[in-house]
Amino acid sequence: QQITVQPLTRVTETAAMTAAQHGGRAKCLQRLVRLGLPVPPTVALSFGAVSGIARGRMPDMAQMLEAFGPDPLLSVRPSSQEADWGGPGAILNIGMNDARHAALSGRLGEAAATQLYLRFVRAYAVHVARLDPDVFDMPAEPTAEALAERLRAYEEEAEEPFPQDIAVQLSGVLRSMARAWEGTSARLLREAKGAPADAGLGLVVQEMALGLGPEESGSGLIQFVDGATGAPRVTGRYRSQSQGRAALSGAGAIEMTGEGGFEGLCPEAFAALLEHGALCRERLREEMQIEFTVQAGRLRVLDAVRVQRSARAAVNIAVALAEDGVIARRDAVMRIAPQALGELLHRQVDPAAARQSIVRGIAASPGAASGRIVLSASEAQAAAARGEPCILVRRETTPEDIRGMHAAQAVLTVRGGITSHAAVIGRGLGLPCVVGASELVVDRKARCVIAPGGRRFAEGEVITLDGTAGEVLAGQPALLEPALDGAFRTLLDWADDFRDIGVRANADTPADARIARTFAAEGIGLCRTEHMFFEEARIGLMREMIFAEEPADRRAVLDRLLPLQRADFTALFEIMEGQPVCIRLFDPPLHEFLPSGRAGMRELAEGLALPLADVEARIEALTEYNPMLGMRGVRLGLTVPEIYEMQARAIFEATVEASGSGAPVVPEVMIPLVSAMKEVELVKGRIDAVAAQVRAATGSTFDYRLGVMVETPRAALRAEEIAQHASFLSFGTNDLTQMTYGLSRDDAGRFMSAYVQLGVYEEDPFLTLDLEGVGELLRIGSERGRAGREGITLALCGEHGGSRKAIDFCRGQRFDYVSCSPFRVPLARLSAAQLAL
Ligand code: PEP
Ligand code: MG
Repeated sequence: QQITVQPLTRVTETAAMTAAQHGGRAKCLQRLVRLGLPVPPTVALSFGAVSGIARGRMPDMAQMLEAFGPDPLLSVRPSSQEADWGGPGAILNIGMNDARHAALSGRLGEAAATQLYLRFVRAYAVHVARLDPDVFDMPAEPTAEALAERLRAYEEEAEEPFPQDIAVQLSGVLRSMARAWEGTSARLLREAKGAPADAGLGLVVQEMALGLGPEESGSGLIQFVDGATGAPRVTGRYRSQSQGRAALSGAGAIEMTGEGGFEGLCPEAFAALLEHGALCRERLREEMQIEFTVQAGRLRVLDAVRVQRSARAAVNIAVALAEDGVIARRDAVMRIAPQALGELLHRQVDPAAARQSIVRGIAASPGAASGRIVLSASEAQAAAARGEPCILVRRETTPEDIRGMHAAQAVLTVRGGITSHAAVIGRGLGLPCVVGASELVVDRKARCVIAPGGRRFAEGEVITLDGTAGEVLAGQPALLEPALDGAFRTLLDWADDFRDIGVRANADTPADARIARTFAAEGIGLCRTEHMFFEEARIGLMREMIFAEEPADRRAVLDRLLPLQRADFTALFEIMEGQPVCIRLFDPPLHEFLPSGRAGMRELAEGLALPLADVEARIEALTEYNPMLGMRGVRLGLTVPEIYEMQARAIFEATVEASGSGAPVVPEVMIPLVSAMKEVELVKGRIDAVAAQVRAATGSTFDYRLGVMVETPRAALRAEEIAQHASFLSFGTNDLTQMTYGLSRDDAGRFMSAYVQLGVYEEDPFLTLDLEGVGELLRIGSERGRAGREGITLALCGEHGGSRKAIDFCRGQRFDYVSCSPFRVPLARLSAAQLAL
């Protein structure tokens, strides 16, 4: 609705005001007036008026002062559009001068009157006249001498007497606040909180209720829910003979309820506040904190702001408001920032705890954990066996470290980016993880890590890893526990009602699948089968298979792998109870599976009963210059076809087994790293043959769906012909990003922060989907895929899958689902709902 903005608006029920022109505080005060709360006379200055003041156009002071009683004392407070964009501090007691001091001395007593005058002289001297704050500090006692001394100091420093005219004082205050808003540091601060460059400031001028005087007078704050949990609970502070929020933090303030509390001191005012709180909750549709003053027993409401809250409290409050019918369910869903759910799913460093930073890296997997530094997987296991929490610190991790990662509370690596091995596994395990902490040196000989600046942390020393912030902290700050309570589930169930894109989980093991179910994923969108072999007992088998030179040797290993795989798949199908399970055939980047170092090679030689020299020679033969672009995925599948055949057999036999005991299973089989249609055709022929064999051998009929991972640029470009052999296409944006940029996922950590700082990349493209480049390939791939096969299922399963930006894009392209790490499923469900609303 079009309103005419007056530079000065008296805040009444009917005044034309908006948060976008007068700021949130002014608008809220108007709502309080409408609700009939006892708000003192207030005038709001619009953004336009305040920016005019900063440029020397002062509004008519006489007109402004007409809004208040005779000889008022006034306060001025900032009113930015969003409360957390900040603004200059409030200035109180404008109007204090020699005459008011004399008059108030009679009414309130000389000490109280002098106190008020001293406070105002200090505020005016420091904020308006910009004089040295030390000269105007508050004296221990509000004596006449102290006041006279400061008035004299003012006159000397400012080269004019302290102004006595309220109009002069008020215009000085307004000018200083308007200019403070335009200062560089204030602008940078608010821009960091999301404010636009041209964000405006409104100001609120209000008649003071003094909070001082012979009868019970004071000021306080009250709220009706607990800011940490969101549970209903009356809390707050009140202090007799005081003004403003600042006074409440010190000694001398009392609690709201209980022995000696405000409730007993001013029962009527307390009862009125409870009513006001309930009214605000219902009509402002929000839990508010009320700032109030008591003046000779009479209650005044000065202001109300949204209760500050933790993520957990935010969820509880939103759900409670919706359950009470105060807001709609869709509003509750919209009120929670998806990233905030991360705080609920994992332990967090208590925001109130002191942080002593050791080093920063990439925040690869959220949550926080404390433990002793260990530098190898075996030490991590030993620590776990002793029941000692530990943090595994490595240059980078390989599959040999998996057992150590399982045993550790958190993982820190020097190298690697957001899709490196440590990061992917950490997210999958729900383990806090920081990667790419490139300023850290791991000195295994000296058994310590060396932080930037040279500080050494010995093995065994306790550190804390904050995977949410991407930071490592010294010692053991307090942690907050996760909170997967009823409100969390309720909110996500509501979100599902609005969502129009599927959310599946990337889950490799039965443990992952159970987490996926807990978070209500709609199936598994990516099971990385090579990850099933990261376990200690199995990695040897995987290596034997990779090492086998003769087909007979390989077949012997595959015969041992088959029952393991079959049992894995049966478990996944059973846990998912008929929900789709998409199994990706082996895609082992060989370097991730080869032993590194002599000890690993010796172990392998023992396992294979081969001379060490043979193992070394074979490793050399298998070593690739560019393993991520080498013998991976379907390339291995086509050159050594027995591997995929074994996997297909395991999948189909598990299908028959699981369908016998539960819901019929239609497995999805996915081919990785495809770049040519012919690859799909060849693999499809072999898998069809295995399916026919299993059908014949078991006498059962089952269906399966074959799909292709689109993760090379060529697969996206050739999607039309590839789609002719695929019933679904799933875009692997990790490899697609790597190959589109020609940027190694495992090495990008080294220069990524420099690149982002230089503005070459806006953000790390492995973290935030690059819509311009990678997105273009996704668009081309999905359009050509649909052209090749009408109604083909389209999905995205890279690490980007859980992010709002990727979900937004996928909705736009009408993808069927996204798939992400199990712990990101709740965030994805909420983001998807918010995007649909
Ligand atoms: C991808 O490349 O996006 C993907 C999901 O596969 P991986 O991370 O296993 O290479
Ligand atoms: Mg990939």
